[in-house]
Amino acid sequence: MKRKNVQPRVPGDIKGLLIDIDGVLYVEKQLIRGAVETIEYLQKENIPFMLLTNTTRRSRYSLLANLQQMGFRLDIEQLYTAPYAASLWLKEKNVSTVCLFVRGDTYREFKDFHVTTNKPEYLVIGDIAEDLTYAYLNQAFRLVMSGTRMLALQKNRYWQTNTGLALDTGAVVAALEYATRKRAIVIGKPNAAFFQHAVKKLGLPPQHLAVIGDDLESDIAGGNKVGLYTIAVETGKFRDDLLRRKKTMPDQILPSIAELPAWLEAQKRAVPAPFPGGE
Ligand SMILES: [Mg+2]
Repeated sequence: MKRKNVQPRVPGDIKGLLIDIDGVLYVEKQLIRGAVETIEYLQKENIPFMLLTNTTRRSRYSLLANLQQMGFRLDIEQLYTAPYAASLWLKEKNVSTVCLFVRGDTYREFKDFHVTTNKPEYLVIGDIAEDLTYAYLNQAFRLVMSGTRMLALQKNRYWQTNTGLALDTGAVVAALEYATRKRAIVIGKPNAAFFQHAVKKLGLPPQHLAVIGDDLESDIAGGNKVGLYTIAVETGKFRDDLLRRKKTMPDQILPSIAELPAWLEAQKRAVPAPFPGGE
């Protein structure tokens, strides 16, 4: 298979990173070898980065605690999650009432809203996994049919667990869209606005940023859309056959995040092209 392995537009140009969490730093509770060391390398080299995730089962607070337990030294400001992005989006729109279709402690991101099932302005839909029942889904359906708008935290089809692939939020959102003939607004990756907000938070122009992820639809297609350099890792949900089928191609493929420091070092040493786009 021909791979699109290209150099950054200017060698050494990558000054910051947007890093996907699930499948890049760990798969479920299994740490990916070299992930902690790579984060330490970025910190030592003063390379700014943010961790981006479509995970909707927890708040940033418990996600941070989880990452710290695994050995990552991080700050809450370095986490950018779909539920957090949704709360910012709803605030921007001056929304005050929501119904939460989420799990775990994700509700903590929505403490500034009135949570109600009585004519909420928005129904926030995340991954509810085993909580999914006909009654639950039907309640959501009725809300949307009576005017509540759907805000999907993400629309991923599936994700990788230790026991195999697992159905994700996108399947539930699609079911509600089909039944109601209405479309959900999608907040998480690959939504361009999700990446643009994270880029803004890092304070670097997109041409100096790379996104690294295991998901071609979310991370790579999303990153391509906003002009980021895109790096796919062959861990987590990455499947070679997807590359063959998809139009989405990353700028670079690395076996795992463990290879990132050596790759960044090699970029620094690379001789610049004589003119932009030149060989
Ligand atoms: Mg991922």
